[in-house]
Amino acid sequence: MTTDRNWKTRTKLVHEGTRRSQYGEMAEALFLTQGFAYDSAEQAEARFIEVGADEFIYARYGNPTTRMFEERIAAVEGCEDAFATASGMAAVNGALAAFLKPGDRVVSARALFGSCLYVLDWLAGYGVEVVYVDGTDIAQWQAAVTPGTKAVFFESMSNPTLEIVDLKAVAELAHAAGATVIVDNVFTTPVWSRAVALGADVVVYSATKHIDGAGRALGGVICGTKEFVRKVAEPYLKHTGAALSPFNAWLMLNGMQTLDLRVRAQTDTAAAIAAALEGHPKLGRLIYPGLASHPQHGIAAAQMGGFGTMLSFEVQGGRDAAFRVLNALEIVKISNNLGDAKSIATHPATTTHQRLAEDQRALLGITPGLVRLSVGLEDAGDLIADLTQALAQA
Ligand SMILES: *Cc1c(COP(=O)(O)O)cnc(C)c1O
Repeated sequence: MTTDRNWKTRTKLVHEGTRRSQYGEMAEALFLTQGFAYDSAEQAEARFIEVGADEFIYARYGNPTTRMFEERIAAVEGCEDAFATASGMAAVNGALAAFLKPGDRVVSARALFGSCLYVLDWLAGYGVEVVYVDGTDIAQWQAAVTPGTKAVFFESMSNPTLEIVDLKAVAELAHAAGATVIVDNVFTTPVWSRAVALGADVVVYSATKHIDGAGRALGGVICGTKEFVRKVAEPYLKHTGAALSPFNAWLMLNGMQTLDLRVRAQTDTAAAIAAALEGHPKLGRLIYPGLASHPQHGIAAAQMGGFGTMLSFEVQGGRDAAFRVLNALEIVKISNNLGDAKSIATHPATTTHQRLAEDQRALLGITPGLVRLSVGLEDAGDLIADLTQALAQA
């Protein structure tokens, strides 16, 4: 159960939300059940009227293993409650689609993961007014977030160009306009997040990334107030079938126990790689929020507990040179997950952001030479050696 004890993140990640059965099992139990038997017809009736704190009806609505995961992540994020979803995109879609009605206005940063853009485009087709801004330009937010705006949405650190949105400044102007602040916090990770303290109302994660941390399962979660999670998000999610599988929740609970250790180690290695590759003659640009050269380095330092496990770089010579580097990597795998224990290199222009038009990619800084690197748990020296030998092939 979630407690209000003043535990640090690392302790919460191990213990928060744990529910033990009558057997007192140490490890979190996997309740691989879709349904729950009632003692009587009267009890079933009562539970369909109101579900108690430790009661369940159907796994699409909730499940004890899934509930452990929800309570653990809510406690870590500093939110009252959470609803777990089948994937990160089910969480993004759930938070936005459950909340926004035709005629509502949402202002979003335009530097978004391709599928997040798809969701907003879809909602625009249903009459939601979607306005895009350069998320790093406060003046654009100020102008776009008119009174009565229903929500603002952004990735606190964008995929794949690692732009940082000034969460506190945007939250202040959003709240002044009456808007709810919905943040996709995947790249920041729950470990480095201060999103709630800085004004986020709703925080969304793809648990597929750092939370699982081993690239095994899809999952997602919406964290927020009880009011948002249970009154706004839950009705939509439970009726549209976005529920996280209890098995995947069990994997996520296991992943969370080591989340703090992993993210810290991966962040240290990312910083070491950034330092080693900065100024490399084959690179046009090296993007890492921990470098003083990052345009929002100061904001990143103020709003994140650490600079994260992701970096991006632009190989001079465009797509062909970038492909030569990717193909020469020996330890780092070519794939498109992130937050994995295994380091992963991605070519966004031809994979994750392939769907976008060329000019939109250019506007977002997703150039043909751009490579996104998710730093894993391998030895930093080995990774630097691998990247250095690969860059020599550019
Ligand atoms: C991966 C990702 C998502 C989607 O998560 P899935 O679990 O793949 O559905 C959403 N936002 C960001 C920033 C991501 O990196």
